Amino acid sequence: MPRVPRSSQSFHSRSSHLKVNRSKPIRGKIAPRDQKVLSKLAGEVALRTFPAEQIARWQREIHQNTLSLSRSIDQPNFTSVGRDDLVRMIRMYDDLFFDGKILPVAHAEGLSFGLSSRMTRVAGKMVTHYPHGDHEAPRQFELILSSTLLFQTFEDEGRPAEVTGRVCKDRLEAMQRVAEHEFVHLIEMLIWNDGNCSEARFQSIAQRYFGHTDYRHDLITQRERALTKFNIRIGDEVRFRHDRQVLTGRVNRITRRATILVENAKGERFSDGHRYLRFYVPLEKLSKA
Ligand SMILES: [Zn+2]
Repeated sequence: MPRVPRSSQSFHSRSSHLKVNRSKPIRGKIAPRDQKVLSKLAGEVALRTFPAEQIARWQREIHQNTLSLSRSIDQPNFTSVGRDDLVRMIRMYDDLFFDGKILPVAHAEGLSFGLSSRMTRVAGKMVTHYPHGDHEAPRQFELILSSTLLFQTFEDEGRPAEVTGRVCKDRLEAMQRVAEHEFVHLIEMLIWNDGNCSEARFQSIAQRYFGHTDYRHDLITQRERALTKFNIRIGDEVRFRHDRQVLTGRVNRITRRATILVENAKGERFSDGHRYLRFYVPLEKLSKA
């Protein structure tokens, strides 16, 4: 899911830096990658529609149930979230919107969930692994949300966020929209073994089931946070403490921390011909030089 223009960030990246956390398969007799089962699902997913108020009612129900069932999510702008919250949320979506038909089929192949604090640009991703190196063999699906992007949005009440074309009032709503988006990715991969949120089939499913009108998010990225909260942008000259000295350098990159280049004869040579040492500094530790 690409980010809305401001800068072009994607909801996804192909890289996967999380360990596979395999969930145990659900009991039942579903064979992995059973074409008959998948075709039946395809027929349903390709056509089913819901009235808008039905969609909204179920989405609210999931919002409320999460608040009452979760041990971590105790308020709409929650400050901690667990993997179990994502697992429960996706299960509720499957039960309400798909009559519980998707997850057992995905689990028959292999499905795991995760939250990542290291995803600083993409809000979520769904990775399909082919452990047998064979495109036709059973796969492993991995659905991951970025806790970092969720937490730094709605941080100071100020700016609302639009996710999937819908304005989110709180962090939990944003988490739901991202989870819905990634769930559609899972469904597409599961059934058709390919998919893309910038294409018609994905958008049709996301629209009919969840009322999405866009496939992008507007959650606050580190770069935006650096600018609005700390007034720091790439290229700025900044000062920071390191050991017992104050160093001055230039901001070269902003992820979870800022990468600062400090000119130093012992450093590596950069394209401008000068030598720099690299420092990784939390944004709040920087001040403009
Ligand atoms: Zn996407």
